[in-house]
Amino acid sequence: MIDFDDLAGRARRYQASLDGRLVRPDDAAIAALQRLEQPFPEAPTAPAGILAELDEIGSPATMAATGGRYFGFVTGGVLPAALGADWLAAVWGQNAAMDVMSPIAARLEEIALRWIGEALHLPATGGALVTGATMANFTGLAAARETLLARQGWNVSSQGLFGAPPIPVVVGGEVHASMRKALSLLGLGKDRVIQVPVDGQGRMRPDAFPTLNQPAIVCLQAGNVNTGAFDPAVELIPLAKASNSWVHIDGAFGLWAAAAPARAHLMAGYDQADSWTTDAHKWLNAGYDCGIALLKDAAPLRDALDAPAAYLSHGSQRQPMHYTPESSRRARGVPVWAALKSLGKQGLADLVERCCRHAARFAEGLGQSGFEILNEVVLNQVMVSFGTSEQTKAVIAAIQEDGTCWCGSTQWQGHTAMRISVSSWATTGEDVARSLEAILRVARQTIDRGALRS
Ligand SMILES: *Cc1c(COP(=O)(O)O)cnc(C)c1O
Repeated sequence: MIDFDDLAGRARRYQASLDGRLVRPDDAAIAALQRLEQPFPEAPTAPAGILAELDEIGSPATMAATGGRYFGFVTGGVLPAALGADWLAAVWGQNAAMDVMSPIAARLEEIALRWIGEALHLPATGGALVTGATMANFTGLAAARETLLARQGWNVSSQGLFGAPPIPVVVGGEVHASMRKALSLLGLGKDRVIQVPVDGQGRMRPDAFPTLNQPAIVCLQAGNVNTGAFDPAVELIPLAKASNSWVHIDGAFGLWAAAAPARAHLMAGYDQADSWTTDAHKWLNAGYDCGIALLKDAAPLRDALDAPAAYLSHGSQRQPMHYTPESSRRARGVPVWAALKSLGKQGLADLVERCCRHAARFAEGLGQSGFEILNEVVLNQVMVSFGTSEQTKAVIAAIQEDGTCWCGSTQWQGHTAMRISVSSWATTGEDVARSLEAILRVARQTIDRGALRS
């Protein structure tokens, strides 16, 4: 048996440590990982000892990603209700492949998908919970491929792609790397795409949209990973629909703008698409891992991903595994449902709006101190340059070393930049003030030291 009280104590102490520790693990914590380099033991080890070792060596070697000052990549924290629900789901140990394997997991997945469609104001009739936006993109594109080829009399799930009529694929010049991965997995090719030129925010330019003489898969982006910008769907989707194309949206974090009244204008026109991707582990703060694919018509999803076998068909219920690339899978619907329920529509709107305001505060504070903000801060993403590429790289490294907060680096249209992504429910105004103070202090020190040396 496991000592749940001991476990809870460790969890409580970890959470309580977040505010006082560096966001990055300190050097001693990284060095201590060496202690895990043991031979595979001959004899069993009791759970209590394993948990103690894991906590003592593991906890300090984490990034404090669930605290309020982690701004790397696009990383959500974990809402308390989602965390608790995930614990319970782990205790249940359900296989969420089929209703018959876990009635509760199957039911919560359906409800969560319905609530997400409603929260995002999208006309989705179905979808799937998968590992992340990468697989959600794969899932939406699989349905697109199935549909466009079926219209030409080609059943791609049974016949494969060899000899199939080619499908044009259109993406923006700033398409996310995971879309390319999904396209390559589906045999659509990551480099045979038509790439539409973008503007300075990374938005696809409608005036540069290609003339399509046949149905294509057109992939738009709601929320660029660097700028947070949205492709202009109001103009682009009608252009795509003129050729009967399938429109897929990568909105790994951006789709959530639809849930906040003051940001919903960014999502204008996106309800006209055929499939949408988002993540629950980013802005919904439901914890890792969970991505979401939504479909206007879920039937082609089933055609594409069904795994018929006599022992795997049960009643008329929706069987999750027939709508996802996976079979056996964890019960992702449980934390997602709990996150949604704990927020409600108001809490969700507030979470999104709060993160956007924090991002605006970062941009304002950095701009006032003379540093260049490289993007229009429309959402939760801020890109800042600290001068030359070398200066910016040195400042980012020093900020990460300082450890008050954590921000990553990027390249944006020829510039080196630091990226700040505010995606956690846990980030407070105080966290932003502390982080901003640290960023400005470290930036000035680093730049002054550089100037002295040269
Ligand atoms: C994060 C992100 C992805 C990939 O998401 P994963 O959950 O890591 O698979 C795809 N597209 C965009 C725009 C993203 O921000």
